[in-house]
Amino acid sequence: MTSDPSNLRGVLTVISGPSGVGKTTIVKAVKERLNVIFSVSATTRPKTDQETDGEDYHFLSDEAFESMIASDGFLEHACVFHKHSYGTPREPVEAALAEGKLVILEIDVQGGMQIRQSMPDALLIFIKPPSEEVLLTRLRGRGRDDEQAIQCRYAEARSEIENAESSRAYDAFVINDDLETAIEEICDIIRHRGNIG
Ligand code: 5GP
Repeated sequence: MTSDPSNLRGVLTVISGPSGVGKTTIVKAVKERLNVIFSVSATTRPKTDQETDGEDYHFLSDEAFESMIASDGFLEHACVFHKHSYGTPREPVEAALAEGKLVILEIDVQGGMQIRQSMPDALLIFIKPPSEEVLLTRLRGRGRDDEQAIQCRYAEARSEIENAESSRAYDAFVINDDLETAIEEICDIIRHRGNIG
């Protein structure tokens, strides 16, 4: 059952950005500095050895994911990079918002656009690299992928940025040039919207 949006007093913040932009580090820091609830997404992608089920993601089978969709169990969901499905479980987010809490979703632009439609009061922030060259250098510097995978991530990152800019769904674009400045800028935007002192 979908809640009546007028009962949702908290602030829903969406943070999106391409891979290699420092999104995960920034979101982790924001979480530590502000009293926020972080939504744990569901995904059909396989778990890596570094991840914990229920903490990093709820790792679901295709069937379990489809049945969540059928029961309207997601606030938004999308197939990311044409590979795996990702979705925000509806119930915990709506329960936290009904209690007046601040909830952060780290999701892609397709998901951000769905949230913009269904929850027009949500705050949507997109993190950008200072330049495409810097993004490419950072993707290479992570040492995780071979050059072919890096070029693929780079192409995906560029299209994610273009989609975010053309969607007009995002309230703010924050450039991650200096990490600390980007973190504080995002915290300030959220504090301002949430009237948090
Ligand atoms: P990864 O597999 O590297 O953890 O995440 C891949 C992409 O999926 C990231 O861009 C991330 O923001 C996005 N993502 C993670 N959870 C969700 C979700 O619940 N919904 C949507 N739409 N995207 C998500």
